[in-house]
Amino acid sequence: MTETLDIKITKTSHSRLAQTDFNNLPFGKIFTDHMLLADYADGEWKNFEIVPYGEIGLSPAISALHYGQAFFEGIKAYKHSDGTVSIFRPDKNAIRFNKSAERLCMPALPEDIFVQSIAALVDLDRDWIPSAPNHSLYIRPAMFATDPFLGVNPSATYKYMVLTCPVGPYFSKTLRVKIEEKYTRAAEGGFGYAKAAGNYGGAMLPGKKAVEEGFDQLIWTDGKEHQYIEEMGAANVMFVLDGKLITPSLDLQTILDGVTRDTVIALANDWGFPVEQRRISVAEIIAGAKSGALTDAFGAGTAATIAPVGSISYHGEEYFLSDPKTREFSQKVLHTLDGIRYGRSEDPHGWNYIV
Ligand SMILES: *Cc1c(COP(=O)(O)O)cnc(C)c1O
Repeated sequence: MTETLDIKITKTSHSRLAQTDFNNLPFGKIFTDHMLLADYADGEWKNFEIVPYGEIGLSPAISALHYGQAFFEGIKAYKHSDGTVSIFRPDKNAIRFNKSAERLCMPALPEDIFVQSIAALVDLDRDWIPSAPNHSLYIRPAMFATDPFLGVNPSATYKYMVLTCPVGPYFSKTLRVKIEEKYTRAAEGGFGYAKAAGNYGGAMLPGKKAVEEGFDQLIWTDGKEHQYIEEMGAANVMFVLDGKLITPSLDLQTILDGVTRDTVIALANDWGFPVEQRRISVAEIIAGAKSGALTDAFGAGTAATIAPVGSISYHGEEYFLSDPKTREFSQKVLHTLDGIRYGRSEDPHGWNYIV
């Protein structure tokens, strides 16, 4: 059953579009003219409205700030050369949104309401979507607890909001990464599979240390032994080893069920390229890097897209991989994905949600 969403729209009288420099779009700093807000209270979602982007008033006691009942999503919309606007697989994000909500003891938002609310905002601010190569509109839905109450209990009230930012490429270079062996992002039984705000707060110190050591990113390993690969920064990690696409499985619930990860696996399946979702040891990746059996390695995420790994460091040794431009698999993925997202090629899986 599809519920139709009633959204009150208040348009800005001072559009910032004309003064925005689309040749200089630092990630996540430039917001479009509008944002969407809604409230959860008395057991239901209400007050869906689109208003001019700006500050919102909140109690300093909200439990999102004190206890981390907060999570988010990341989605992109693309402008095709004929002006068509598409959002990439928002239905997948709607499902994950509710998985995060459930784990954090927060209310679900019906999937069709999630998608419709995003489409309404993207439609209103469609002139903000850049059409240059590798540019898009980054969409940031989020939900957080708003009870002004310092007890450690699930809140009874919540806010849902959607912000949008025109963006260019996230990483502009090949990444130098290290295998993290001290810090842990997620543990079995924890909430690594949720896009929970707290997962990112806890990742900042290890990330900063890695940058101080000269790396661009770190590869997270399992919390028990630090011997199995999990993710790369805030993206999934994928390899081509011995002619097979391999990526950590979702079974232990310590990693995010990424939409980009799922998309790359689907493309590999389309091409008859062998895929394994399983435990991957650091030892086999390092052995593959040494022998040359590791022919591709990349991060996969909505913000990062397909981010090639140039070298992997482990126990003080740096292992260099081939030049990303010569990597058959990830180049084909990039080319195919771009073709679909920008409407240049067929979309056989129906991944584009046309606005
Ligand atoms: C968002 C995210 C990903 C990538 O998910 P996508 O749906 O592809 O954007 C992977 N890992 C983590 C930790 C993330 O936060």
